[in-house]
Amino acid sequence: MTTIDIDALKQRYAEERAKRLRADGNDQYIQLKDQLAHYLDDPYTPVTDRVPKTDHVTVAFIGGGFAGLITCARLKEAGIDDVRIVEKGGDFGGTWYWNRYPGAMCDTASFVYMPLLEETGHMPSEKYAHAPEILEHSQRIAKHYDLYDNALLHTEVTDLEWRDEDSRWVIRTNRGDEFTAQFVAMGLGPLHVPKLPGIPGIQDFKGHSFHTSRWDYDYTGGDPAGAPMEKLADKRVAIIGTGATAVQCIPELAKACGELFVFQRTPSSVDVRANRPTDPEWFAEMATEGWQRRWLENFTANLGGFVLPEEDLVEDGWTDLARRIREKIMSLPPEDFTPEKMLAAYETSDYEKMSEIRARVDELVADPETAENLKAWYRQLCKRPCFHDEYLQSFNQPGVHLVDTAGKGVERITEHSVVVSGVEYEVDCIIYASGFEVGTPFERRAGYDITGRDGLKLSEAWANGMVTKHGTHVHGFPNAFIVQIGQGANLVANVPHNFTEGGLTIAMIIKHALDGGYREVEVTQKGQDDWMELLYSGPQLGAIGNADCTPGYYNNEGKGAAVDWFLGYPGGAMAYFQYLDQWRSKGDFAGLEFR
Ligand code: NDP
Repeated sequence: MTTIDIDALKQRYAEERAKRLRADGNDQYIQLKDQLAHYLDDPYTPVTDRVPKTDHVTVAFIGGGFAGLITCARLKEAGIDDVRIVEKGGDFGGTWYWNRYPGAMCDTASFVYMPLLEETGHMPSEKYAHAPEILEHSQRIAKHYDLYDNALLHTEVTDLEWRDEDSRWVIRTNRGDEFTAQFVAMGLGPLHVPKLPGIPGIQDFKGHSFHTSRWDYDYTGGDPAGAPMEKLADKRVAIIGTGATAVQCIPELAKACGELFVFQRTPSSVDVRANRPTDPEWFAEMATEGWQRRWLENFTANLGGFVLPEEDLVEDGWTDLARRIREKIMSLPPEDFTPEKMLAAYETSDYEKMSEIRARVDELVADPETAENLKAWYRQLCKRPCFHDEYLQSFNQPGVHLVDTAGKGVERITEHSVVVSGVEYEVDCIIYASGFEVGTPFERRAGYDITGRDGLKLSEAWANGMVTKHGTHVHGFPNAFIVQIGQGANLVANVPHNFTEGGLTIAMIIKHALDGGYREVEVTQKGQDDWMELLYSGPQLGAIGNADCTPGYYNNEGKGAAVDWFLGYPGGAMAYFQYLDQWRSKGDFAGLEFR
């Protein structure tokens, strides 16, 4: 085994970080509005006319992705039928509606990532299901729970206002709707607003261009199911960005394009994926009653529990990462169980893993200079870890060119070219794999502010940072619920598990309110303050979001993540889910007031 020079690595990490640092932080990206608004157009479903709604529903849910589907499924199971989902896409699925780029698939094992498998009787076809199957599963959930009839698709909420006199929310949309709801819940997704890099000249480009979340199959040919993109055979294509999205679509582009230029600012760490089809016999035997909950809990316990379960049912890159770190710490002699030595053991395990990942690049990439440029020099959780079995090999194809920008990014775009270090790369098409807005204010990403009791705006309530109970309830905003990962479990490796627990909890609270004849439910000021105090009493940042990481959306572009968004329950995700189960099972929902 090769020995690792930790000091040398630390220095190299710091040098690479310094290359990528820039003062403008999030302002380097441009919002897709005005002349750039067309980048947001839905290429998948035509928008059809409909009559605006002016009626009343018991529950309105804003967002038709996993958060909305799961919560509304639980509401229906609780016997609450009068539920309406409002969704900006032309169908359900959220991120899986929009992200149809070639090669898209989930990165967390399907058995824990895809929600409500047991309820809908679906067996994921692969360990990591491809995007079309996940989109179809979203539609399956919507059909199973009868969510289509009352839904408003291709509809964006523009205004959400509490009306005290009859304890109702008034919801206005960009389609002229103005309807009311007794309860409103929202699950907007952490990454749903595409962004473009603010590269000088970006608007001058005369060729074709699109963002990965609005893939233009009319231009490329092919389809999301994997039909070859034959129209690219004579094209010179640029892709800007090498994050988790690019890692999945570059192998497909590499097969199709006449020439492909990959513009890289920071390389991703790309570990083994080892996808495989599901064996139906194994599944039939394994999938006994309650199987998905057992898998969810096992995954989360492997990731975030204090006691490491003996078994790792999921066996994916995430559980491997977590188990490895834990085993390193547990291998310390008892006298070394101090916070400093435990952190040092964690760090060593990280250096070892990243060295392995860098060695994998040398094994798989033929050209030594390209291989060197594809190596990631930072700690694994500084950026989103990626897993892929074809990405690195793509760079061995003669038509694929890695253009490394040494942390600086693309210099300029002209009418026909992408420019780096003064060299012009003439291309027919630019694909922006440049990610999504994170860290911009809630109301900018949502597209609406929320006006609660006594005219209080959510932007005012959160002016000094997000404050909630469980990440769900905000004082001053009765009968409103937010489904998100922060200030609750904060489980980033399997986002749908957060929603599974959050959705069930919200359904139980609404049922309790309706059964008891209450008009309103709201977190008390004390209930919220106590929760925030508890969160701040724990460790405030995990490995994710540290300012000394290489910049990216995890750490607010090098400035350090906003602590409030990354707060999680002090005991970790597993402890949070256990706490939440007890809290809701008691039936009094302590900290909430029913009126
Ligand atoms: P990211 O924000 O992760 O990546 C954006 C990319 O664009 C980065 O490589 C960034 O470089 C690059 N970039 C930005 N500006 C410039 C510039 N001026 N010049 C050159 N390059 C530039 O977006 P993704 O869409 O890849 O992923 C977003 C998230 O979505 C992931 O982190 C993950 O959470 C999720 N996702 C999940 C998947 C799954 O589960 N299967 C698949 C895909 C995405 P730099 O790194 O230097 O900022």
